[in-house]
Amino acid sequence: MHLPGIGHVNCYLLEDERGVAVVDPGLPSPASFAALEQRLRSAGYSVANVHTAVITHSHFDHFGGAERLRALAGAEILTHESFRPVWESTEVAEPPELLTLEEDGGDGHRPPWLALRRNPWGTEREALPEKELRTWLEIAEDDPRWFATPRPTRTVVDAQVVRLARRDWLCLHTPGHTEDHLCLFDPEFGILLSGDHVLPTITPHISGLSPHPDPLARFFDSLQRMGTIEGVTTVLPAHGHPFEDLAGRAKAIRRHHEHRLEVIRNAAAELGTGTVPQYMQRLFSERSWGNMAESETFAHLEHLRVLGELDAAQRAGQTVFGAA
Ligand SMILES: [Zn+2]
Repeated sequence: MHLPGIGHVNCYLLEDERGVAVVDPGLPSPASFAALEQRLRSAGYSVANVHTAVITHSHFDHFGGAERLRALAGAEILTHESFRPVWESTEVAEPPELLTLEEDGGDGHRPPWLALRRNPWGTEREALPEKELRTWLEIAEDDPRWFATPRPTRTVVDAQVVRLARRDWLCLHTPGHTEDHLCLFDPEFGILLSGDHVLPTITPHISGLSPHPDPLARFFDSLQRMGTIEGVTTVLPAHGHPFEDLAGRAKAIRRHHEHRLEVIRNAAAELGTGTVPQYMQRLFSERSWGNMAESETFAHLEHLRVLGELDAAQRAGQTVFGAA
């Protein structure tokens, strides 16, 4: 399933005597839902057979179709108990009226994440590329409910067991990429549904927009845990192809972040104090600069601040960081 600016998201079907559970039922769009319907058909099912939508985390490219599955098939929506999109988090909230589905000058309803205008570290958020924005507005025109946050009907906690595909899955709360990230592990066959927590070729985005003060530390803890799971045979990620070496991949991702922290330490020594965009320019190549790079940079800066290596201060409305 594909939309501009997002790329592909894998969706897994888990079959059992009741029908199927769908893990991460696609993007919020009619095209994505049509693709899901078509894939269900090719597996011998219809939307009516979906009894559960499992959502690994609160990113809209993973939960887009969930509310529609609930409406059309009465599907359960299963998430971690902390499931909540970051734009509903009070820490980063703009005035609440901006965060609801609002009429926008006759353009129809806008997706709520477009309402975040300013970052917590003081910079204006960059506008979406014209083409991407148009795509979202066209989808909103089709039906504004595409952008409603799904309401979980069944929430789980860490170490809870859920029965899907005629087997018992262990729920693993893996905060970091988002605070509410959930992986499912089937110890019998060694299969891990890893969501965006561990991906084979890219490193998951660690956002500075988090209800947790140090999301990178949360992510490190959740990565560490991957090395302790015994008997993993296959990892099924939300992006990219299945892979096997979970512990090795988790270590490589950790090394990548350690390298970024080192770049920041060196930049702090050189800059004295710097804004988040200034550090971002040291961490990312120019083609990646923007909201996501800033947000990830902020998460790394905050990690070093919490460790006591950096100090933060306010300068001209922006947060600046320097060596402590
Ligand atoms: Zn994600």
